[in-house]
Amino acid sequence: MDSFYSVFMPKAIFYGRNSFMKVGEVVSERGKRALIISDKIMDKLGYVNQCQEYLHESGISYSTFLDVNSEPTDNYVVKALELFSQTDCDVIVALGGGSCIDTAKAVAVLAKNEGDISEYIGNKKVAKNGATPLIAIPTTAGTGSEATDVTVITNTETDVKMMIKQPAFMPDVAIVDPLLTLSSPKNITAATGVDALTHAIEAYISKRSHPLTDTFALSAIKLIFDSIQRAYQNGEDIEAREMMSLGALKAGIAFSNSSVCLVHGMSRPIGAIFHVPHGVSNAMLLPAVLEFSMDECYEKLAEIGRYLNPEMKGLAKKDIAINLVREVKRLCMNLNIPNMKEWGIDIQAMNKVVKKMAKDSLASGSPANNPKIPTEDEIEKLYQICYNYNMKEEIQI
Ligand code: NAD
Repeated sequence: MDSFYSVFMPKAIFYGRNSFMKVGEVVSERGKRALIISDKIMDKLGYVNQCQEYLHESGISYSTFLDVNSEPTDNYVVKALELFSQTDCDVIVALGGGSCIDTAKAVAVLAKNEGDISEYIGNKKVAKNGATPLIAIPTTAGTGSEATDVTVITNTETDVKMMIKQPAFMPDVAIVDPLLTLSSPKNITAATGVDALTHAIEAYISKRSHPLTDTFALSAIKLIFDSIQRAYQNGEDIEAREMMSLGALKAGIAFSNSSVCLVHGMSRPIGAIFHVPHGVSNAMLLPAVLEFSMDECYEKLAEIGRYLNPEMKGLAKKDIAINLVREVKRLCMNLNIPNMKEWGIDIQAMNKVVKKMAKDSLASGSPANNPKIPTEDEIEKLYQICYNYNMKEEIQI
């Protein structure tokens, strides 16, 4: 096994309250005409207008694409790329949640490279040229996409959520302003926050974790544990929002340089087939998948448990690990995370496609990074467990 590791992240990261106002200066250093890729909710909230004003003040002209919807498809990429070319843009600003940022990443790469986005899956095609400079400005504290070399785009022909990971998809600059997350409603705060927690936990227990990703992952887990319920209960709690934005950013850096694992592998088919938002589909799987995996990663889970609760230091690692999984479960319960049934997935509809879901999950490659690698049958069983999962039930060992 190699004994050296690497870490990649954007060339610059601006973060903290009011960092959004850096966008004009950052863009003017990289181009003359920007394509803003965002959505209608960002427009309604006034964020798009604010961005346009900042660009205008820096002498930058712009076009605006507002047609991204949650869980972006290859169709949005085609349309936004058309606008980019027709309006002679040379720099891209992504303003929104992971959906806007991922769409923008695909456009930034395809603007300088050939082919459709689906050709890049599994590195069948690799971007030879660097991407158009992309400035990523997240408005959710969740995906960490602002600092990852990953884009997730649904292929509308195959109904597969394609996870594409190549260096060219890394944004040039991330601007992480927690004030942009203050408007995030309770359900989105909960789902995107548990998404970030899942990134951090999976990055930490992954077979591909290493010391530097561990540092980012552990501190992300602590930031998120300490602030997610505060941000959920009081959306105006700026300090909690700040901790969540920083936690999500660190979790993104962690998983992009380590990996995600089984939760993400199982989550994408739920999103692609039943159109469950990514954060929710991760959250509805996280406790059950940790219960499945924990006997192969007691040590790493105990390290997290000790970091969160130093008074546990004297206890056996298995007990600390079980307690941590209990805490994750309690957190999901307090955030009103639904199981698959409560979300409204029909059991017969799921049973019809559960084999495809398990196959697609394994094919994505993420389960192979899990500390306990599941078989296809085990993944099918896990989907059944998650369908009726009861967050209130005690963990059976
Ligand atoms: P999202 O971008 O789909 O946004 C969810 C909803 O919240 C949208 O309607 C959006 O308009 C709204 N919203 C966003 N910010 C808001 C705010 N501040 N106030 C009010 N409403 C707001 O959600 P997401 O969870 O950020 O992104 C999900 C997508 O990201 C999925 O497609 C997922 O697969 C992908 N993803 C990508 C990566 C990566 O590294 N590229 C990692 C994880 C997930």
